[in-house]
Amino acid sequence: MRALRFFEPGRVAGVDVPFPKPGPGEVVLKVHATGLCNSDIRVYLGEKKAAAGVIPGHEISGEVAAIGAGAEASVGETVSVCPILCCGSCSFCREGFRNRCQARQTLGYDLDGGIAEYVRIPAKLVAMGHLLPMDPATPPHLRALLEPFACVLNSIESLAIGAATPVAIVGGGPMGLLHLIAARAYGGGPVLVVEPEAERRTVALELGADAAVAPEDALAAGMEMTTGEGFRAVSLAAGIADAVPLALGLARRLGGINFFAGFPPGASHTLDLNRVHYDEVRIFGTQNAPFHLYAKAAAMIPRLPALDRVVTNRYALADAAEAYAARLGKSGLKSAVVV
Ligand SMILES: [Zn+2]
Ligand SMILES: [Zn+2]
Repeated sequence: MRALRFFEPGRVAGVDVPFPKPGPGEVVLKVHATGLCNSDIRVYLGEKKAAAGVIPGHEISGEVAAIGAGAEASVGETVSVCPILCCGSCSFCREGFRNRCQARQTLGYDLDGGIAEYVRIPAKLVAMGHLLPMDPATPPHLRALLEPFACVLNSIESLAIGAATPVAIVGGGPMGLLHLIAARAYGGGPVLVVEPEAERRTVALELGADAAVAPEDALAAGMEMTTGEGFRAVSLAAGIADAVPLALGLARRLGGINFFAGFPPGASHTLDLNRVHYDEVRIFGTQNAPFHLYAKAAAMIPRLPALDRVVTNRYALADAAEAYAARLGKSGLKSAVVV
């Protein structure tokens, strides 16, 4: 079968590999679509680690094609994948934070992922329920949003966004726009999106942002929207250390700031510490999502047609390497490889 391989930073290529066969407890999925994540691009750029020779792709949707002995699954079932393999017994796993397991491995980084015709799902992942049934009527590129949307729900819930929560989203790329759609679904608003590119600001307004402004206009616009108080919830959905003061400036007293996007290795920035002490602004991060939010994302995705606006670029498997180039050039929003 055809697949994409990551060899080293700067080098991915289409290759022929043997069809995976399911061992005991394993399942092989026929891939329908796999999303390309900003973190895949960071691996390509050498900012994030992945095993040399791995098939990338952790945002996987597909159908069950073959079942190993003892695996509980049914052939033909439409599923999306929670790609996190965890030990199941450490304190993080026991508390439900499989994404924080210290023995965590992830499909597409440590084990072969979904930019291929078929992908083998390890027995442990099958047994832990990480193949989530999805409505086959939902298009494949939207079913492939399960993992990124679960990550966004983790951000939204960690920021305690609910009815009428004023929200500022710094970064109007695909993940920022998913934040916007999710914040709206949770009843949040007004929502400000801060984004330097005019085209992305236009999309944000179409998707229901109350305002979408360039970074230099954000503080003035944000204070006007919140009668000078600032936002209860601020998500930094761009991994730019220099955007930290803006995120801090947009936060209301008692507000929360989530560092949602990963920063380049070694990134650091100074902080006005008294915003944390005197104003009780809480700063935290989220990465990936606990498992229950995958289940919630699976239920929400078919009900959110606006998600279609975020996946602008679709590539055939043969053109998967090109999808990397497009993301590097920031053309369009999110990309998916549709197999
Ligand atoms: Zn992802
Ligand atoms: Zn664990």
